Amino acid sequence: MISTKRFGSMAFNDDAMRNSLSQEVYQSLQQTIRQGKSLDPSIADEVASAMKDWAIEHGATHYTHWFQPMSGVTAEKHDSFLSIDPKGRPILEFSGSELIKGEPDASSFPSGGLRATFEARGYTTWDPTSYAFIKDNTLCIPTAFCTYSGHALDKKTPLLRSMDALSKQAVRILRLFGDEVTARVTPSVGVEQEYFLIDRELFRKRKDLVYAGRTLFGSRAPKEQELDDHYFGAFPERVSAFMKELDEALWDLGVYAKTEHNEVAPAQYEMAMIHSTANIAVDHNQLTMEVMQKIAERNNLVCLLHEKPFAGVNGSGKHNNWSLSTDWGQNLLSPGDTPHENEIFLLFLTAVIRAVDEYQDLIRMSVASAGNDHRLGANEAPPAIISIFLGEELTGILDSIEKRLPYEGTEKTEMKLGVLTLPRFPKDTADRNRTSPVAFTGNRFEFRMPGSSDTLGCMNAMINASVADVLRDFADHLENEKDLHSALYELIRTTYRDHRRIVFNGNGYDASWILEAEKRGLTNDRTTPDCLPALVQEKNRKMLERMGVYSETELQSRYGILLDIYCKTILIEARTMVDMVRRQILPSVGTYLGRVAQDTNAKKMLIPELECKYEMKLVRMLTDRMDQIESTVKELETALASAASFDSGIELSHFLKEDVIELMERLRTETDAAEIQVSSEYWPFPVYGDLFFGF
Ligand code: ADP
Ligand code: MG
Repeated sequence: MISTKRFGSMAFNDDAMRNSLSQEVYQSLQQTIRQGKSLDPSIADEVASAMKDWAIEHGATHYTHWFQPMSGVTAEKHDSFLSIDPKGRPILEFSGSELIKGEPDASSFPSGGLRATFEARGYTTWDPTSYAFIKDNTLCIPTAFCTYSGHALDKKTPLLRSMDALSKQAVRILRLFGDEVTARVTPSVGVEQEYFLIDRELFRKRKDLVYAGRTLFGSRAPKEQELDDHYFGAFPERVSAFMKELDEALWDLGVYAKTEHNEVAPAQYEMAMIHSTANIAVDHNQLTMEVMQKIAERNNLVCLLHEKPFAGVNGSGKHNNWSLSTDWGQNLLSPGDTPHENEIFLLFLTAVIRAVDEYQDLIRMSVASAGNDHRLGANEAPPAIISIFLGEELTGILDSIEKRLPYEGTEKTEMKLGVLTLPRFPKDTADRNRTSPVAFTGNRFEFRMPGSSDTLGCMNAMINASVADVLRDFADHLENEKDLHSALYELIRTTYRDHRRIVFNGNGYDASWILEAEKRGLTNDRTTPDCLPALVQEKNRKMLERMGVYSETELQSRYGILLDIYCKTILIEARTMVDMVRRQILPSVGTYLGRVAQDTNAKKMLIPELECKYEMKLVRMLTDRMDQIESTVKELETALASAASFDSGIELSHFLKEDVIELMERLRTETDAAEIQVSSEYWPFPVYGDLFFGF
C-alpha cells in the first residue's frame, strides 16, 4: 500500500537523520546539505555509524558507493559491513572514512585516458545532498567519482560543480536587488520519462532487442498508433501490476513518482517525477530507470529505454523541466505580480535565452547519442535545431521592450520606458506546442531533447554552466551601474535583441523552419558525429573552464569516450544485423521456399497440367530477394571489416554514419519486404504486431 508514511522509508532522509543523529551533528550535516558542501570529516564517523545502524535495521547487509560512470549506466561495488575485531570476532562496521571516500577498482570504466592503467583506482565521495537509500539489501551511497588527481570520471561531479557556479552568479544578481538573505540558488528539475513495455518471452526471441535494445528489422504492423486509442487508455493487467509495484518501490526509495499514463505509441508509457534539486532529480531518474527494468522483469516484461525501439511509431524521450529556486523557495522564473519581481523574472528569463542561443551547439551535443539520432535527426519531435518557445504573450512583451514601445497585449498595460511593469498575463500561457525542443511553460523551461536512456547529468551541467556564465556577465555589467533600473532595462532589451533569433513559436516539424533557422544562423546538427566536436570547441571549452565545470583534460577525455560509445553502438547494431540475416532470416526464407517448391512439385506430379502461377512467381521473387539481401549483407560485412582501419574516432564515426548506416537501412528495407512475403510460421522471430499487441 502506498502511504505518506511509507514514502522514503528506505531512504536515509531528513527524518531518519534527525532520529538517529545527535542534535549537533544533525545541524552540522544540514548546514552541509543546504550549502551544497562536502561532508565535514569531523562528523563523518558519527554519520557513518548512524547510517549503518539505520541500514542494518532496514535489512541491509552491504553498502556501496553508487555512481554514474561515463558509460551511462549506474555502477556499484558492494562491500559488506562485516569486519573482524582485533580478537578475531565478526563485527558490523562502517567508518567515516569509508563513507567519505571509497576506492573502487575502476579499471574497467571508461576514462578516455584520464587514468593510466597503473593508476586504476578512482575514488568516490558521498554527495551528502542526495540521500542514501537501500536497494536489494544494500545501502547505496550516491557518490561522485574522480581520479586521484581530481579529474571527474563521472557525470555527477560536473553537475555539482555547475550548480555551485550557477548559485554563485545568481546570488550576485540577487544582491543587486537588495536581497541579502538568499545564500544559495539551485536549479530545480522535474523529469518526465517515456518507455516501452513488451513481453519478456517475445523480447528474448529477438537478438536485435537483446543486443541493441531496439528492433533492427520489422515491417509495419497493420495497426499502430493511428487511432490514438492507446493514449490515456486502460492498462493491460500485467502493466497495471508493473505500475503498482513500481510506484511502491519508488515511494519506498523516496523518489517523487507522480503520474503514469499511456503514451501515443502502442506499448509506450510515461512517468513524471515531482521536481527537486537538480542532482537529486538526476539521481532519482537514474534510479527510476534501474528499478523500472528490474520490476518489469519480475512481471515477465521488458522495459525498453531505447530512444527508438520501433520504426514507424513514436520514439521515447525525457523531458527535463528546469527552473531556478532560492533556498527559501522563490522560483526566479516565475513572473511575479510586482515590478520588482517582474524585473528579476525578466532578467533571469533573458539570461536563459542568451545562454541557450550562445551555447546551442553545446546543449545539443549534451543529448547526442546514436539512439537519440533517430529522434532529433529524423522526422520526429523535437527537431535537431535548438530553439525556444516563449508563447505569443511573452514574446509580445519582449518585442515591445526591444522596440521601447508600450505592450499592447490582451490586457492593455502601459509599459513605461525604464520601468519594467509586466502586464498580468496568464501564468500558464503554456504551450502545447510539442514540437519545440525548449519551451517556457509558465514558470520553468522544459527541455525536450534528451533521449529516454540519457543520464541527465550532462545536459543539466551544460545548461547550468551556460546560464551561470551569462549571469556572471550580467553581474559584472550591472555592478558598475549607478542607475540599476535603467541599466537593467537596457540590458534586457539588448540581450533580447541580440538573441531573439533563438525564439521560435511556430511548428518545428515544418520544412520551412529548417530554411528559416538556417537564415537565422542556428545550428542544425542532425547526428552525433556532427554534434560531438562542440564539446571541445574553443568558445565552449573556455566557458566551461571559466565556470569551473570541466577542465580541458576532462573535456578531451569525454569527447573520446562519447565518440567511442557512438562507434561501438553502431558496430554492435551492424554486427547484429549480419548475424540475424545470415543465421536466421536467410535460412528461414530458404526453408519456406523449399517447402513451397516441394509442395508445388507434388501438385504438379498429381495434376501435370497445373500451372501453379502463384507458387512459381513466389519462388522466383523470393529467390531474387534472397540474392539481393545476401549481396547487401556482404557489402555490410566488407564495410565492417574496413572499420578497423580508421585512425581516429571522429573519422570512424563519420564513416559509420555515412556508409554503414546507409547499408543497414538498405538491408532493413530488403528484409522487411521479405517479411511480408513469407509465411508467419516460418519467420524466425516475433514481428511488430506480436510485440505491440501480443500480451
Ligand atoms: P506536462 O508537461 O504534461 O504539463 P506536468 O504539469 O505534470 O506535465 O509537469 C511536468 C513536470 O514539470 C513534472 O515533472 C513537474 O515536477 C515539473 N515541474 C513543475 N514545476 C516545476 C519547476 N518549478 N521546476 C522544475 N520542474 C517543474
Ligand atoms: Mg512535459
